[in-house]
Amino acid sequence: MRYICLLILLMLTLRAVSQITVDTSFEGSNARVLSVNNSSNTLKIESVLKRGDVYNVVFYLKVLNVDSTRTFRLQVQYSQLYFLPVYVMYSYDKSNWYRLSGTVSGNYEEYSGVFNRRDIYFCYGYPYVYSDVINLQNSLSSNPFVTVSDVSYSESGRAVKLFRITNSTVSDSGKSLIWVTGRHHAMESNSNYVVEGLINYLASADVNAARLRNQAIIYVVPVMDVDMVYAGGTGKDQNPVDFNRDWDSPSHWNAVRDVKAKILQTAASNRLRVFLDSHDPFPGETDTSGRNFFFSMQESGQKSVNLNAFRNKLYNTGGYWFGRKPLYPTSGQTSTKWVDSMFANMDFSASLETGWTKRTDGTSWSVFLYRLHGGVLGRGLSDYIYQSTSVSENGTPVNFYLNVYPNPFNPKVKFDFSLRKNQQVKLYIYDVNGREIAYENFGKLNSGRHEYVFDAEGLSSGVYFYRIETTGQDGLLKGRIVLIK
Ligand SMILES: [Zn+2]
Repeated sequence: MRYICLLILLMLTLRAVSQITVDTSFEGSNARVLSVNNSSNTLKIESVLKRGDVYNVVFYLKVLNVDSTRTFRLQVQYSQLYFLPVYVMYSYDKSNWYRLSGTVSGNYEEYSGVFNRRDIYFCYGYPYVYSDVINLQNSLSSNPFVTVSDVSYSESGRAVKLFRITNSTVSDSGKSLIWVTGRHHAMESNSNYVVEGLINYLASADVNAARLRNQAIIYVVPVMDVDMVYAGGTGKDQNPVDFNRDWDSPSHWNAVRDVKAKILQTAASNRLRVFLDSHDPFPGETDTSGRNFFFSMQESGQKSVNLNAFRNKLYNTGGYWFGRKPLYPTSGQTSTKWVDSMFANMDFSASLETGWTKRTDGTSWSVFLYRLHGGVLGRGLSDYIYQSTSVSENGTPVNFYLNVYPNPFNPKVKFDFSLRKNQQVKLYIYDVNGREIAYENFGKLNSGRHEYVFDAEGLSSGVYFYRIETTGQDGLLKGRIVLIK
């Protein structure tokens, strides 16, 4: 009798093992099981509303005990047809992700295939969870160009990470300021790989990344809505306010409030030139030509010209055009709009919509391709800042920059500058007592780039000051250099 009981128990256990089950206990997961049909190897789920969600769109789950000898069907019941991805992503190890196309049927979309494993992860897009930001921070912990700080703490107490990238051996004085934010909308996980690709490019040994680090300070917040990303929610249009509609004062969300303050603080000492906010559009949404595109406030004027110049740089680097669309007039208090209204003289402010997992020009997106686009973005920024039509403090277009490096120096320091017009240029160097150490009258220089090397051989270590005077609108530039012998 005892053996029969054991046998029955064993049979029950074996039967339980063959049942399809779902794991949603890991970070960022989201799914509710609606039905399991083991005989047809079919699982039906729906997305769950998280926090203040109003749409249940995002799903991310591990399915266990699938019959790997025949077709498995994942059915996702939906309530918002226009959010449905063409593909679902699946993985056996949460590391390598593959795509699987779906077919809409009734109120659900079905993704089916024969899988050679019994346990499979499925996700709405390529998942990018909060821990991925921490992993990125850790991977760059010994990089000399990157510092990471907590710019804010979310309502649940999670750190909102801010990456600061520049060459710290070059004086910050006169550097351009660039700000990039990402993941205002938790559902747009793919866009985070663009941001990650950008950060990794800017921190890399690439000569153009190095050039930009000498000329600019780049601040990047990869994930704005850390709580919703952590919870695996959808985020878009969430209550009480969408993250990207929260940029007018007073802001509801800690991260938005604190990032705004940090932008203003950093822009007090360096001129903010470019602001970019990384998004994914709705699946299938493109510009009129089926491309990635920018949303921007300006359809004409200098900022529009500048954005087009930047798009040209991206084309030269990445080989295809990024389109553009005017920002929806209803999109009120977006980051892009707030920055645009706060900084009249910045070059441009735009949202980047990198495309869903299928590009309508036929290219299928992968994690690699998203990251690559981040690199293209970084190279485009480098090219743009290096040689750009910009706007001066008095609103006139200029083509001017000054880069003084290395700083501190020994014994030579290079002044690398460009002029918008032909003009008279003089350069002075003083010591701390105001004594003139060097004077160079260049006479009338042509527009474009010039270099001047100052040799401090024979001078003692210490702080020195430079002053560059021009007769034209490019005006006067002053700064500090440090000689360390
Ligand atoms: Zn978005």
